[in-house]
Amino acid sequence: MRRGLSLLLTIMLLLCMPVMIVAQEDTRVTVDGKLLSFDVAPALVQGRTLVPLRTIFESLGAKIEWDGVTKTVTGTKGDTKVILTVDKKTATVNGKTVELEVPGTIIDNRTLVPARFIAEALGANVVWDAGTRTARITSATELKVHFIDVGQADAIFIDFGNYDILIDGGNNEDGQLVVDYLKKLKTDDIEILIATHPHEDHIGGLDDVIKAYKVKTIVDSGYVHSSKTYEDYLDAALEEKENGAEVLKDTDMSFELGGGAKFDVIETGDDFGDNINNYSVLTKLTYKDVKFLFTGDMEKDVESKILNKDIQADILKVGHHGSSTSSGREFLDKVGAKIAVISAGQDNEYGHPHLETLVAIGRSGGNIYSTTKGGPVVITTNGVDYQVQAGQEQVEVIEQNLPGQTTSPNINAGGSGVIIKVIDLKNETVIIENTSDKDVDMTGWKLVSVEGNQTYNFPDGFVLKAKKTVKIASGGGTSELNWTKANIWNNSGDPGELYNSNGDLVSKYPR
Ligand SMILES: [Zn+2]
Repeated sequence: MRRGLSLLLTIMLLLCMPVMIVAQEDTRVTVDGKLLSFDVAPALVQGRTLVPLRTIFESLGAKIEWDGVTKTVTGTKGDTKVILTVDKKTATVNGKTVELEVPGTIIDNRTLVPARFIAEALGANVVWDAGTRTARITSATELKVHFIDVGQADAIFIDFGNYDILIDGGNNEDGQLVVDYLKKLKTDDIEILIATHPHEDHIGGLDDVIKAYKVKTIVDSGYVHSSKTYEDYLDAALEEKENGAEVLKDTDMSFELGGGAKFDVIETGDDFGDNINNYSVLTKLTYKDVKFLFTGDMEKDVESKILNKDIQADILKVGHHGSSTSSGREFLDKVGAKIAVISAGQDNEYGHPHLETLVAIGRSGGNIYSTTKGGPVVITTNGVDYQVQAGQEQVEVIEQNLPGQTTSPNINAGGSGVIIKVIDLKNETVIIENTSDKDVDMTGWKLVSVEGNQTYNFPDGFVLKAKKTVKIASGGGTSELNWTKANIWNNSGDPGELYNSNGDLVSKYPR
């Protein structure tokens, strides 16, 4: 009874009291580290910080319109529109009604609005630091690039707030996997979808993705293919076009993503005969200081034609799953990436990534991550720096062939001690062993099949470490080094000879 009475009294008291508004001279608000200065001090209402309307909106890059009659403010930033009326406990964000813990209010003829609500509605993050009484607002939205593990294929998803971009969709059977991956990230629609070129390992799953999601813009290479996979993709794309999507052939174009981010399509030409890989749509993502380059399966001849384009990037999606048909040295140097990501399947039939590509990337200064050991590679950036999450460490082979080792004094220059250990004529493999205790740079070295009169040139920069072996495959097999798909060795007997960079015969097999 007594408890009920005191509760009643408390309620009556609360009803009679005006809402407590306390001016907070010592409350500070920072946006991206910059302290905001207010002409009216922030106010604390029921534990919430209210700040002058114009300052908070404008510091976050939003434009405002003020309606003095209805006391309503409309703040617009990019696609986001926030409408808030003084003393009203609801606001709208892009037409959706949102409950406010504290409404906007007028103090000293200035309209104050809840700082956290405004910041979050505009896509910023807010952290309250009680110790220094500072509301720290970070306007930078996190941008994530997911190199989805679709085996021997490509599917790359760019997640930037409300802006979603998909580059390729894996093989035919990966469609649902990609859709599920996007659903797990709560993707609601796709703003841009890139179909780099008509090979199944790039467009195979795209029809499923287009059916599952509303897509605003589709860009493809314009190369028309007769395959069923391409037909499925095109049917889905054209159906989406009827639903309002634009379907474009690649050419130089730029999409502003807001918040300091943009996505560019870079024209590389359309005259590559029947080498479909070379039609790959080249795209570049720029978020403030951090740049990504996505090359599809573009090969060396196109790479060398576009060296004068704006291709510098911090992160490179390595062309053609790390095949030696891509990643020419000049191109890698021009891009200058610190991170190289290879999308390829575990133990794939092509032997991707090829060792010479890994060596070339290592020499150009890039750290390599790949999907070959399972799981996606995800790169997160705030536009200033970035973190890489991958299921595994860097590709191991690079650690055995570190760039710079060729100039190390611990190199056995003449290559004495490097031998042909065995030639397996039937299985088309050769094992070369460095029996010495020094590393050997095999740039310029040759392996010759005497009977077949054919020559294998070791890749530039290839270093065989002390006491290590390397296997060279031909005839369709794959290994660390791959010669050719054709059979080299005559099964009825074919000696092999190994020559160093000076042309000296170093080893013979059989010895
Ligand atoms: Zn491919």
